[in-house]
Amino acid sequence: MAGLNVRSVLVTGSNRGIGLELVKQLLGKSNPPQWVFATCRDPEGARGQELRNLVSKHPNLVMVKLDAMNPASIKEAARRVEEQLDGLGLNLVINNAGIFSNVSLAMVDSEEMLGAYKTNVVGPMLVGQAFLPLLKKAAQGSSQNGLSCSKAAIVNISSVLGSIERVHETFSKPVISYRCSKAALNMLTRCQALSYSEDGILCAAVHPGWVQTDMGTQEADLPVDESVRGILAVLPTLSEKHSGSLWSWAGKMIPW
Ligand code: NDP
Repeated sequence: MAGLNVRSVLVTGSNRGIGLELVKQLLGKSNPPQWVFATCRDPEGARGQELRNLVSKHPNLVMVKLDAMNPASIKEAARRVEEQLDGLGLNLVINNAGIFSNVSLAMVDSEEMLGAYKTNVVGPMLVGQAFLPLLKKAAQGSSQNGLSCSKAAIVNISSVLGSIERVHETFSKPVISYRCSKAALNMLTRCQALSYSEDGILCAAVHPGWVQTDMGTQEADLPVDESVRGILAVLPTLSEKHSGSLWSWAGKMIPW
């Protein structure tokens, strides 16, 4: 099976956690992308330090400012990436940035619900819209038939906690705002897949497992490098028949 073979990839929320590890593993591939765009909210600040260290070692890594809550910052990021690509398209967008709050139905309020929705759903939607012209360009410039992550794709990092069918198994953590936002992200993924397939763009959601990051905590069962190795092994297996679905890091389809 051919591995992921992308010329250019963009990862949101890549200054720590799963996003940072995605960037590290993409750069460490035997056939690394020509361009890795690592976006974060604060490239100049303390939170961007690890990425800045990587940039000094990898000339193909470009840090780009992107706040998923801020539509103007998403548009500006797309402009910056377009400039860097100099007429070429962007193969892969990974919407990884996300927020999580441990709130029950008894505690949650409208501000918490709307904040989660804005970052976890509206952000990925706006990112998809803003980078669509570059993704289309990548698809048009490709000689590959069908849909693939190496050609042109949007991958939304979602969660099994957003699966309605699996809720009875996972409800020990109610996390209402997070669950509802990820269920909406799953719906967005299906709608993106149906809308963008005619442009040659694959759209899929991926559950990374319960991962040892700030969000997942050290109690989680998966080290971040293992989760990301899994994700990067799953992406090249996806084709048009998988577009619009939710996949686990281990390559299993998760029901909506
Ligand atoms: P972390 O909390 O470790 O990292 C979250 C990342 O998202 C940080 O880089 C953070 O940046 C960024 N981010 C948050 N809000 C914004 C915003 N408005 N704009 C731009 N970037 C933002 O989380 P993980 O790495 O664990 O999670 C990554 C993804 O995986 C998320 O979508 C999460 O929902 C999903 N996931 C994680 C699981 C886990 O067990 N860890 C399980 C299932 C899904 P900053 O440093 O600026 O805050």
